[in-house]
Amino acid sequence: MALSEIIGHEKQLAVLLAALAQQRLHHAYLFVGAEGVGKRTVALSLARVIHCSEKSGDFCGQCVNCERIQDGNHPDVRVIAPLPDKKEISILQIREIEKELNFRSFSGGKKIAIIDPATLMNLASQNALLKTLEEPPQDSVLILIAPNVGGLLPTLRSRCLRLSFSPLRRDLLAGFLTTKGMNPETANFIAAISGGSPGAAVNIDIEDARERRQFWSGMLSDLKAGRYRTATEAAEMLASNKEETAQFLQWAETWYRDLLVRRVTQNAGGIVNIDQLEQIEEHAAQSEVEHLLSLLEQTSAASAQIQRNFNRRMVLESLFFAVVGARS
Ligand SMILES: [Zn+2]
Repeated sequence: MALSEIIGHEKQLAVLLAALAQQRLHHAYLFVGAEGVGKRTVALSLARVIHCSEKSGDFCGQCVNCERIQDGNHPDVRVIAPLPDKKEISILQIREIEKELNFRSFSGGKKIAIIDPATLMNLASQNALLKTLEEPPQDSVLILIAPNVGGLLPTLRSRCLRLSFSPLRRDLLAGFLTTKGMNPETANFIAAISGGSPGAAVNIDIEDARERRQFWSGMLSDLKAGRYRTATEAAEMLASNKEETAQFLQWAETWYRDLLVRRVTQNAGGIVNIDQLEQIEEHAAQSEVEHLLSLLEQTSAASAQIQRNFNRRMVLESLFFAVVGARS
């Protein structure tokens, strides 16, 4: 692998490489963006560019340094995550890292620590890290990786240079998937439903995904037809699993966005649920724009409530009543 094989994130890479070339790398970065979008790949690539013994301004992927970084056992590059069976990154892990960042570099480059996900540091760990950031060890780079900045202390965030990572464009991601041997039609479908995240895309079970989505859209059709009972039963079943509830709501947001797109533009280009185009056309033709807008808003509010551990059944039922109420 080399820099040219990374898909997307050109701007972020350019910022980092320019800083590196001018010897002006910041001592702490905060990479923010959706899960699986490529933040860790970019962080590890920067580490390889810094330490590669064969290339300058790029990496070869084959020298001892590149291989050890790839395998996670380079003495100058550490990735910190919760230990097995632990939910948080402990203060001991942070103190250990601080000590290591102060050692002399093994290969003469910079010492690099990547904390992923940084949002799993508890308050004590974050405060400990803050001390390191106030007096950064010489020749060290700290990279915090996070899906959002919600769980991080403002004082911690303000000491890091922030780089935001957007979802990949659908055509880029589909192209990447075809290079992995996927046929173009499947690649396009997976790229559309994975939210622009290669990490999510490669883990999707396509048959399972199709089945679930048929089931979910069937459920919304039942509601739209006023079949309450099926709906409340479905709500109860969905609510028994937080992950499933979250996935359904994520999908429902794309569903209502698609209906809106179809309703107002007649353009299929931006549709996410391309496998359900026929149903989308049918529903869009029967729906009012203001109802769709309101349902989209309520779906995204329900998603946020599930993240904050509201009662799942109540959240789903209240959304489903809104769907029934929006019948026109
Ligand atoms: Zn190399």
